[in-house]
Amino acid sequence: MDGIDGRVRNAVDVWLRWLPRWQIGTARPRTRICRRCTGSPVAAAAGFGPDVPHPVQHALIGRMSAIVEDAVDDYTAKNLPLLQRELERAAAHKRRAGYQPADGLSPEFQGLDVDPQPEPGEPFLFTLGELAGTGASAPEPREPLSEEAKAALRHEIELSDECARSTGTAVCLALLDHRERIAEAVERLVEPQIAALVSDMFRGLDGPDEGPRGGLF
Ligand SMILES: [Zn+2]
Repeated sequence: MDGIDGRVRNAVDVWLRWLPRWQIGTARPRTRICRRCTGSPVAAAAGFGPDVPHPVQHALIGRMSAIVEDAVDDYTAKNLPLLQRELERAAAHKRRAGYQPADGLSPEFQGLDVDPQPEPGEPFLFTLGELAGTGASAPEPREPLSEEAKAALRHEIELSDECARSTGTAVCLALLDHRERIAEAVERLVEPQIAALVSDMFRGLDGPDEGPRGGLF
């Protein structure tokens, strides 16, 4: 696959330019597990430890996933006509499916919840999730596929999965070359924020003016 090294290098560059704008959140962390990041080999290839906050990891993993998805789209368009037709049909169906709040987001936000966690006792007026599908129109009816067509489609899906696996491996190998840059940026831009947050939390727990004998003397 030509150009994977270059694409990975560019994506890491973009992530490094984005990282200085990232600020540690004081909001409650998400409670649902992220399907994109959990167990991702990209996180291991990038050298992310468990203490690197999820949004920081998610932004890089999303950009790496986009490289794999683009490569698979390319391969499918060139080599897998049956699957390509199914994907075009699905895309047309989606266009008729009305408003999709998660569409068109930049990679830093793709795959995350579109709405923040509600606070107990303070319901939202509306959520973006509830608006999904507004403006939808009915899907077009389709002819059922023959057994041969189904088997041929399954074969093309296997080929596309194989392309995703081999591209994913190439992306991870290419990413290994950037571990040092990534580690340096995390150490410089992320770790001080974690340290500051932790020391704030400790200050809140036992401030110097709020000791047990405060006010007695
Ligand atoms: Zn994630």
